[in-house]
This record gives sequence, C-alpha cells and structure tokens, in this order.
Amino acid sequence: MMSAKSFTVQFDKIYDLSVITYSGMQMHPAEEAAGARTLVERHDSPADLPPMGNGGQGPAPGWPIYHDVRFTTHTGTHIDAPWHFNKKGRRIDEYLPEVFMGTGVVLDFRHLSDGARITGEDLARALPAVQEGDILLINTGRHKQLGTEEYATRHPGLDGEACERFLVEKKIKMIGMDTICVEPGSEEEHWDHPLHRICLIENEILLIENLGGQIDEVTGKRCYIVALPLKLQADAAPARVIALL
Ligand SMILES: [Zn+2]
Repeated sequence: MMSAKSFTVQFDKIYDLSVITYSGMQMHPAEEAAGARTLVERHDSPADLPPMGNGGQGPAPGWPIYHDVRFTTHTGTHIDAPWHFNKKGRRIDEYLPEVFMGTGVVLDFRHLSDGARITGEDLARALPAVQEGDILLINTGRHKQLGTEEYATRHPGLDGEACERFLVEKKIKMIGMDTICVEPGSEEEHWDHPLHRICLIENEILLIENLGGQIDEVTGKRCYIVALPLKLQADAAPARVIALL
C-alpha cells in the first residue's frame, strides 16, 4: 500500500485507534499504587500581555495558553520497548520510524469472557488470517470499560506460552490490544508476565496497550497501521495509532 520509493499512498479513510489522555485518567494499578497521576494542566499567559496575532486583534487576554503535562510512559495508548522489561533492551527512541508502521490485521475477540487467555490456535483460526510480518491488533471490546475497575483487572489477554510459537513463526512485528495490559486478568494473575518476556526480552516484538477510539470500525479487517510513539528517552512512550483502510 505504501512505498517509500514511489511515495504512493492509497487509502479511503484514516481511523484513529488511540484514546484521549487527560488529567486524572486511569493508569495501570501498579503505577497508581506507586502514587503516579496523569496531569494535563492549562497555564494562561499574564492577562496584561499585549494581544498577539491578527494585527493585535488576536486572542483574548491570557492567550497564548500552554499545558504542563505529566504522565508515566504507560499512560493511555502507548508502546512498550524492550527496555521496559529487559536491562539490555533498547529504548523506544532507539527505533527507526519504519518499525512502528506496516501491514496489519485487527482481530475480533470481543466475544471473550473476563480473564480469557488467547492461544496460538485462537490466533491461527482467526479471520482475516494473520500474515507473516504483520502488526497484530486485537479488539477485546474492553476499551469501552476504560476508567472502570474491571478495565484494570478482568480483561482477556494473550497467553504467552500458548501463543509464543505462533508469534515467532509469523514474525509478528508488533502486538496491540485494547486493554491496560496484553497479559490476561489482574496483575497478580499474570505476575510472571510471560508475554512481556517473550516479546520484550526474547523476540523484540513491541507492545501497544490501551488501544481504543475507532477500533470497532476496523475490526475484522486488514489495514495499514501507523503507530508512532513520542521520541522519549524512555522504556515506552504514548503513541497516536491509526489504521489506513
Ligand atoms: Zn506498557
């Protein structure tokens, strides 16, 4: 669909699969327990600044405004780099942009019950078929629960051991889910984080968490995914994830 050589880009519509990040939004329970909070705070300019723009007829006193932003790297829609779990792993800023884009598929797993574990057979059976080198996105329907207790503790997830072979054989480029974590259930239930180990330590498959937005509209479809994270010198970073269809 996209070719760097010819600069040809063809699609009918762009779908936004990202959630909005705002002050006080839900964070991972481990981060909340550590006292982390999301802050997106507005600051106005002094009211006595001469108006700027439009020949002095510009914005009202107080403009331009600014926002002071503070969040952990795992807030809202974000991408985990290997360094999150791997002492010797790369930081998110160390990847070239092409790592974060490519052909992909958005699988429909909205029928799953709370805490369900997705296996390699489930992925192999799903339609449209996952192709080699894909970015694999999974819709569990749980993005609709963002902000609730269930969202943090009862979501389905990928069973690391049961899908390792499939992910490696298919050379999956990136995995994304509409859940607070790609592992199933509460933090206690997946304390060992087998999928994080397989993806971030052993195979360098980056992980997208907290997908949402228009994901329902592209579910069950193949599309071109662009998921560009902020170039933070960090273990992960918020990203605007879009699907071109
Ligand atoms: Zn994360």
